[in-house]
Amino acid sequence: MMISQMNSLSGRIAIVTGSTSGIGLGIARALASHGATLVLNGLGDRAAIDATCKALAQETGAPVHFNGANLLDPAGARALVAETAQALGGVDILVNNAGIQHVSPIEDFPDDKWDAILALNLSAAFHSIKAAFGGMKARKWGRIINVASAHALVASPFKSAYVAAKHGVLGLTKVVALEGAEHGVTCNAICPGYVWTPLVENQIDDTAKARGLTRDQVIRDVLLAAQPSKRFATVEELGDWLRSCARMPQHRLRVPHCRSTGVDCALSLVGSEGRPCLNNCRVSSSSAPGLLASPARAV
Ligand code: NAD
Repeated sequence: MMISQMNSLSGRIAIVTGSTSGIGLGIARALASHGATLVLNGLGDRAAIDATCKALAQETGAPVHFNGANLLDPAGARALVAETAQALGGVDILVNNAGIQHVSPIEDFPDDKWDAILALNLSAAFHSIKAAFGGMKARKWGRIINVASAHALVASPFKSAYVAAKHGVLGLTKVVALEGAEHGVTCNAICPGYVWTPLVENQIDDTAKARGLTRDQVIRDVLLAAQPSKRFATVEELGDWLRSCARMPQHRLRVPHCRSTGVDCALSLVGSEGRPCLNNCRVSSSSAPGLLASPARAV
């Protein structure tokens, strides 16, 4: 890789929410390896998190910080942005990735799970964007990337809260894209199909119970059934996609941007001319190599 490419995010301050694990950690790695100063966030064992930060800094050469704000609380989202801006001078890249899942038929769906999924998967993105937006506009540069899901586009049974929250994330993305367009601030959402992470592993048993299937049947006939590649996407593929989104000049984000990375669906929304562009990737990979196949029923 050329040095200029490697340092293309040098000087940019990036927050990745929910980056102590899974997709968020893959995104953080991709941004740090291209020079961004990273603020990791998430829950978990503090000693393990400190070791992750240290390893990431050594591996990439980028400064890596940690903020353990609990994003279930709006005050946590606001504090994450405010403390980062105060300590590092601003927030240039905001990746709203933290998310949780619960699988249950609607008549049994626990109220507290509904509230928590809406609070973390949707409202936390609103509160962190609200806190970061003014600074991005003032500096006339900002990249906001919301990690949605194929479930922002399609539904599956037993995932009422998750599907509702992820559809909401796309609506939020479109509004923020429109409001940021004249100010050098872009907002995009990505809608991956299944990526092998703890969030997916943790729902297999509940899905098996809800549908009366075995684990293997859940993986083959539910999770991967509509995933065109018939394999799980990787966190590295997601990280690569996000990194290019963060680096992209605004004028190149005016059109739907969709790349084949093995992710089963990706969606770009941008409003730099006041018109958000929606590409839900409903194209066949054979007719349009380089674009992605139909959205997977997922996650
Ligand atoms: P994961 O369980 O591996 O990681 C979730 C992260 O969120 C962790 O770092 C965790 O500590 C953090 N987190 C949880 N509760 C939090 C809280 N209250 N405050 C702050 N951080 C908190 O999950 P993942 O699979 O990497 O999912 C990441 C995102 O990607 C989610 O928004 C998910 O909906 C989305 N997504 C996942 C897949 C998939 O197949 N894994 C597919 C599409 C979209």
